[in-house]
Amino acid sequence: MKVKLLRYTADPELLCGTAALTSTKTGSPSEIFDKMDPDKAKRIIKRVTGYGHVSVIEHASFTFSIEGVSRAMTHQLVRHRIASYTQQSQRYVTYNTLEKYVTPASIADKTEAKELFKETLERISKTYNKLLKLGIPKEDARFILPNACKTNIIVTMNARELRHFFNLRCCVRAQWEIRETATEMLKQVKKVAPVLFENAGPSCIELGYCPEGKMKPPECNVQEIKKRFQNL
Ligand SMILES: Cc1cc2nc3c(=O)[nH]c(=O)nc-3n(C[C@H](O)[C@H](O)[C@H](O)COP(=O)(O)OP(=O)(O)OC[C@H]3O[C@@H](n4cnc5c(N)ncnc54)[C@H](O)[C@@H]3O)c2cc1C
Repeated sequence: MKVKLLRYTADPELLCGTAALTSTKTGSPSEIFDKMDPDKAKRIIKRVTGYGHVSVIEHASFTFSIEGVSRAMTHQLVRHRIASYTQQSQRYVTYNTLEKYVTPASIADKTEAKELFKETLERISKTYNKLLKLGIPKEDARFILPNACKTNIIVTMNARELRHFFNLRCCVRAQWEIRETATEMLKQVKKVAPVLFENAGPSCIELGYCPEGKMKPPECNVQEIKKRFQNL
């Protein structure tokens, strides 16, 4: 898996700080922007989002390339609706080699499971190739492909949606592959917009407790998780 922040809104914090001040100042957004500085932006973003006016951070968007992940992962990713996606198409790209599949560690670590997994993928690959040779179009041959198929996807989310995405998907209750992806995305946006992503991560970080109730994994320690994400 590879996650790369490709592009993001220029001066994301100055811009969101400007948006936050626009509602209460008589000056125009361009005048406010010209006078904005990082300290002022930090103060105003914290104050206004603290009131619950979180829409001001929607003005900053972040675009990631997410490469070599499974279709099982992207199926979960695209459930997040306030985002834009473009994904590699199984109608155009051929899936005829075993390198194009993700093997979960739980399977790779168990000899018998790994063997079974490999045998099944080999069989699927053979049948897939045979279907193509029989003139079946890729868009139909793909019906036999598994969730393990590797794929590439480009995703754009604004800072508000990203924070929500991190709340749900950096949590240990999230599936491992989307959790690893989300955590890497958070690591990269924190570097370029530390104020917008302060205290971002699983929702327990801001809440101070686990909202999962009875589903809370016994190994979860909110303080440790908070520390880990602050030092990401
Ligand atoms: C641990 C875990 C397990 C899951 N298990 C399942 C499962 O078993 N089956 C399953 O189907 N899904 C499952 N999901 C997916 C989950 O139900 C959501 O579809 C997904 O997480 C997207 O989150 P969302 O709807 O909050 O946010 P997004 O789509 O990212 O939207 C962000 C926010 O915008 C608002 N919003 C967006 N669209 C609407 C709308 N149409 N109407 C009103 N408000 C809207 C909501 O406030 C929403 O929280 C799981 C998710 C997690 C994290």
